[in-house]
Amino acid sequence: MHTEHRHSRRAFLCGTGGLMTASAVMGMGAASAAGAAAGAAEELALTGEIAETHYYLTEVRLESGFERESEYITATRTALHTLEIRDGSIQAILEEGAALTPDVPRYSAGGKLALPAFRDMHIHLDKTFYGGPWQAPLPRQGKTIMDMIAREEILLPKLLPTSQRRAEALIELLLSQGTTMARSHCNIDPVSGLKSLEHLQLALENHRDRFDCEIVAFPQHGLLHSKVDGLMREAMAMGVQFVGGLDPTNVDGAMEQSLDAMFQIALDHDKAVDIHLHETGPAGVAAIHHMVETVERTPQLKGRLNLSHAFALGTLPEAELDALAERMAAQGVTVISTVPIGALTMPLPRLREKGVTLMTGTDSVIDHWSPFGTGDMLEKANLCAQLYGGRDEFGLTRAMAIATGDLLPLTDAGERAWPKPGDAAEFALAEANCSAEAVARRSARTATFHKGRLVYGGVARA
Ligand SMILES: [Zn+2]
Repeated sequence: MHTEHRHSRRAFLCGTGGLMTASAVMGMGAASAAGAAAGAAEELALTGEIAETHYYLTEVRLESGFERESEYITATRTALHTLEIRDGSIQAILEEGAALTPDVPRYSAGGKLALPAFRDMHIHLDKTFYGGPWQAPLPRQGKTIMDMIAREEILLPKLLPTSQRRAEALIELLLSQGTTMARSHCNIDPVSGLKSLEHLQLALENHRDRFDCEIVAFPQHGLLHSKVDGLMREAMAMGVQFVGGLDPTNVDGAMEQSLDAMFQIALDHDKAVDIHLHETGPAGVAAIHHMVETVERTPQLKGRLNLSHAFALGTLPEAELDALAERMAAQGVTVISTVPIGALTMPLPRLREKGVTLMTGTDSVIDHWSPFGTGDMLEKANLCAQLYGGRDEFGLTRAMAIATGDLLPLTDAGERAWPKPGDAAEFALAEANCSAEAVARRSARTATFHKGRLVYGGVARA
């Protein structure tokens, strides 16, 4: 499989698109590329492979500060730099024109903007329609989560034969968007047993050098309802990092018992927890309280509780939300939101203000739950900017934090925070002038670097 993705990268550069494809990589329009008479030379100058572990990447655009007019931040200053990349890290950040060691190979980013690599912290790589024929979800009106589970019982055996291949296609999509780190939930249920997990692990193994992924064992059909405690423990032994959970009232019908069983698996196997909590209203609020109380009296769980969705937080009056958010922050609870749009708006800025760690993720790219996912974390940043008032230059730059694990090129004061010498060489190149533009316009990404390796797209030989 390794050769297959190498082949696909080469196809990206040298396929039927020819000069067009090459020029797209370098962000040139077709006309300007055609104007570059030495077309063949242009093509040869591009590469989708960097074999060396020590090289220079020249002409990288980095942010250097904010421009201000009276009290407003009106623009972002950038400058071109050379990154010296060695053994997976950014060893040095050199000014443009600095003397370079002659025998170190050089590649050029062609003036593209470097952004911290993106992190998709909630996705289901194991059950997707992506990479297969078009298929829309069945109508959902009037269907409960139990109805959806019944549908899955029929669907899963049909998905399993292609689940590894489709997971790999989805990984390719994420890499193309600059995402190099993900957390994938993986079904643990009586229908697919441990097969979904086995297939996902095979898919990840084939991309081990390109893509990091944590796995959550996800009892989609209910931990108690589908009696998968034993299977969940087998999944722990297979090396997954997180114990998952699901709506303990609506699915398991026994809130405390379900959550306690989930935590017990985590404690017995020394793992963290990442639970899908869609429940709103009193049931959802009670579940969050029960979980936070459990962590408060169980020090081994501190910093190890992740709430995916947690819609109930969007239904609380402000004072109640503040008090709960403070307790969550004190226990290192993380909220992972897909940044929903619609009837419910998650109070993400308030949670952040209170010190709760926030992450985002795709959830469904295209599957039986939703056909709308893009796999693009800049889309999530863009939604944050739209929903929470980030339409000005400064607000747009801040909105990107949820997509990068809180790494931003500039601090609030406008000093460079990323990259710094010694940082992992983990970044994407985008056709944008600055991160504000990248967030607002979801600018195209042309190359993705993971641990110093070019893992998607292309750069020029310099
Ligand atoms: Zn999910």
